[in-house]
Amino acid sequence: MMFSNLMKGNNIVLFGPPGAGKGTQAKKLVDLLHIPHVSTGDMFRCHINNNTDLGKTAKEYSNQGKLVPDEVAIAMVKDRLSQQDVTAGFLLDGFPRSVPQAVGLDTMLSALGSGLDYIINIAVSDAEIRVRLSKRAEIEGRTDDADPKVIQYRIDTYKSQSEPCLTYYRPTNIVRDIDGLGTIDEVFGRIAKIFS
Ligand code: AMP
Repeated sequence: MMFSNLMKGNNIVLFGPPGAGKGTQAKKLVDLLHIPHVSTGDMFRCHINNNTDLGKTAKEYSNQGKLVPDEVAIAMVKDRLSQQDVTAGFLLDGFPRSVPQAVGLDTMLSALGSGLDYIINIAVSDAEIRVRLSKRAEIEGRTDDADPKVIQYRIDTYKSQSEPCLTYYRPTNIVRDIDGLGTIDEVFGRIAKIFS
């Protein structure tokens, strides 16, 4: 496969626990920066809806609130980041979600002559996450949000597997911490300041 060089500047990861509002904020940020939104959750849901082999694997895990295996997620993102439309930047939403994924991302970006510019970390308390996820289950009908046990499993998975990514990235000074409490526009205002 041919890889084109990625430019530095707007290679962004939107990070935070499930229910932090990543998807909502991502939509607003891609409009502001004119970069593609690369959501691994959306990509997996698309595969699940189309009943592809990848979708069948993803469904087994996501229905239980578990992460899809790292190698599957990494291969899917590697393929996506090799496409032309991300050369001027991208907003990764939902990836990386484990330290091996963060290492995988660094490896694939440096092979493309690039790297990450920002990790935007949206911080929200556990209690608020629970409220938001059960609301989202009603509104969007997401099966992985409906069961309190699955919600708790996703929070635990975030803490044990995803949150350590922040420790991995902090020494590079690219992490920007954003308070995720407030209205959508308030939170977005805090994010947009990074780019003003
Ligand atoms: P999301 O919409 O980002 O909450 O993702 C929904 C589900 O897709 C997650 O609960 C995981 O099962 C799976 N998923 C999304 N992104 C990843 C990832 N980077 N690594 C592993 N699994 C993922």
